[in-house]
Amino acid sequence: MPDRAAADIDGVPDEPATDTNAGWNVGDAFLAVSGVSHRFGATRVLDSVSVAMGRGEILCLLGPSGCGKSTLLRLIAGVEALQEGRIVLDEDELAGPGGDIPPEARAVGLLPQDYALFPHMSVLDNVCFGLHERSAADRRRHAMEALAGTGMAGFAAVFPHQLSGGEQQRVALARALAPRPRLLLLDEPFANLDVRLRARLREETLALLKRLGMTAVIVTHDAEEAMALGDRIALLERGRVRQADTPFNLYRSPADPVVAGFFGELNRLTAEVHGGAAATPFGPVPAPGFRDGERIEVLVRPESLVLDEACSGPGAAGTVAGRRFLGRFTRIDVRLLHSDPGEAELIQVHAAGFRPVESGRAVRLSCAPEDILVFPINGPE
Ligand code: ADP
Ligand code: MG
Repeated sequence: MPDRAAADIDGVPDEPATDTNAGWNVGDAFLAVSGVSHRFGATRVLDSVSVAMGRGEILCLLGPSGCGKSTLLRLIAGVEALQEGRIVLDEDELAGPGGDIPPEARAVGLLPQDYALFPHMSVLDNVCFGLHERSAADRRRHAMEALAGTGMAGFAAVFPHQLSGGEQQRVALARALAPRPRLLLLDEPFANLDVRLRARLREETLALLKRLGMTAVIVTHDAEEAMALGDRIALLERGRVRQADTPFNLYRSPADPVVAGFFGELNRLTAEVHGGAAATPFGPVPAPGFRDGERIEVLVRPESLVLDEACSGPGAAGTVAGRRFLGRFTRIDVRLLHSDPGEAELIQVHAAGFRPVESGRAVRLSCAPEDILVFPINGPE
């Protein structure tokens, strides 16, 4: 099992930062993508994308299908020609106004979304394929080291069809790592695996990349996966970077409701601002920058709410309307007693584990003020 201290890499700074640009200036980054736009025919699929990362970091490109993640990765690898902008790796301009370095000279490893191992070659030959060392012995040694890194050294003589999906994935990762790239690009590397194997391979891959000190960009459409892997996450939407930050800041201080919605379900309410605070059912919440009397949007995650069955503490009074046990948590629907007309009728609560609270029971809901998100109504689309 990988030995990793989860607390070391969860992206939580000692002093929680609120700066939404926390991270790297393009100038001192190891990888800097700046102002990259891309069209296929008349369709613009990337629009002035800028992302930057430090050496040894893992950056997750997160976004819905079709938002341009693979295109950006292919531009960095050089298998797609850059049309506009600039890509710099360790002070080398890979592509930009000064010209393009061919993909094979970039020392960038790409594991494409639909990678395929060569079916007629052994695992070892598959991994040796991209290596350019002069002697066969050196190629073999580097390939074996890469296979050992992914736990596949014992399968060197085997052919791809004899491997399970997870084993093939490990070989493909070894093949991408064997040439010792300066930067590794992984396109949805775990998407084709079943849930349990996915979680395991994710942890193994993370431990391996950190052990190697590898700088990596990993594409995923799964927010939880991005949080599990990324030192930082760039959330892409319709070809634009919506927000780039640590997992902690994206979850706790999303720039807008769309970003917030990417990281799980939300209860949506409205509240009025008085004296710089929003009067929410869960108590006053600081709402700086809003006018007195302004109605604003209030978002609360189901997992942030605390259900008080004894009704002994403070909180919004309500009645349990339904419950469903979902394994990791119980989803409990609560109807608030004093909800504004036109509001979502039911508040969804995710209580850890099994929580056998009966329908009809009077409860109170509370939430830490810092877990309540406030935004202008009719904010960015
Ligand atoms: P993602 O990886 O985020 O799902 P892609 O980068 O693969 O998104 O694609 C972004 C958009 O560009 C999609 O609408 C896709 O259909 C389109 N696209 C991707 N590659 C090509 C191509 N070679 N020719 C034309 N359109 C393409
Ligand atoms: Mg893709």
